[in-house]
Amino acid sequence: MAHFHLAQLYPNLMNLYGDRGNLLCLQKRLEWYGHDSSIENINPGDNLDFKHIDLLFMGGGSEREQELVLQDLADKTDSLMKAIEEGLPILFICGAYQLLGEYYRSHEGKEMQGLGLFSFFTQGLKERLTGNILIQTTLNGAEESVVGFENHGGRTYFIDKRLQAFGSVIRGFGNNGEDKQEGIRYKNLLGSYLHGPLLPKNPKVADFFIKAMAERKGLKIERILDDSLENYAHEQVKRKLMG
Ligand code: GLN
Repeated sequence: MAHFHLAQLYPNLMNLYGDRGNLLCLQKRLEWYGHDSSIENINPGDNLDFKHIDLLFMGGGSEREQELVLQDLADKTDSLMKAIEEGLPILFICGAYQLLGEYYRSHEGKEMQGLGLFSFFTQGLKERLTGNILIQTTLNGAEESVVGFENHGGRTYFIDKRLQAFGSVIRGFGNNGEDKQEGIRYKNLLGSYLHGPLLPKNPKVADFFIKAMAERKGLKIERILDDSLENYAHEQVKRKLMG
């Protein structure tokens, strides 16, 4: 049995549509795999020590919350990029994902400078992109469908066309409702517009993170879990979207 240290950035500010459920899902699956875990809440002003963190998570939030957390994240940018480059498993949802870019401009034209870790920007529009979403992606070498719920005014555009999206949109809007791309992927970091929360209805994505965390501890995840309930919920959303 190993202990996994999960950390959530700003749970009281960046946590929409059950986003924290992603960590509860990881905790439960780790338990089923025979491991235990804990969740550290990191709030503004707290120290962010990557040494013992096995996975970092941040949920979505409105522009007001995004502005508040940006002030706190500003002096953590270098250590965050170092952790990303070293392959730390990271899941950033919607408003958190947007903050990784160069800037976020609201539909009123107010510009928020992003962390600038990846070469993309987000333009807010009054009309929101809302609804269930289905994307296709590759995880651990296998083609997988991923389902979720999105609600964002921001449209994200890659400036650096070499950036890799998390997946391609089958139904729904994704990054901007135009280029059929959803989210971003870099090493073990996933940024995604998918709330829901994302992981309970997509056990393959949850296991992507669990395998990445285990590998960094030199452990293998061999046990096969019975995901019939998770897969049933996944298929219900897929069927609803595919008609
Ligand atoms: N405020 C951002 C937007 O509207 C993010 C919203 C969210 O996290 N759901 O695009």
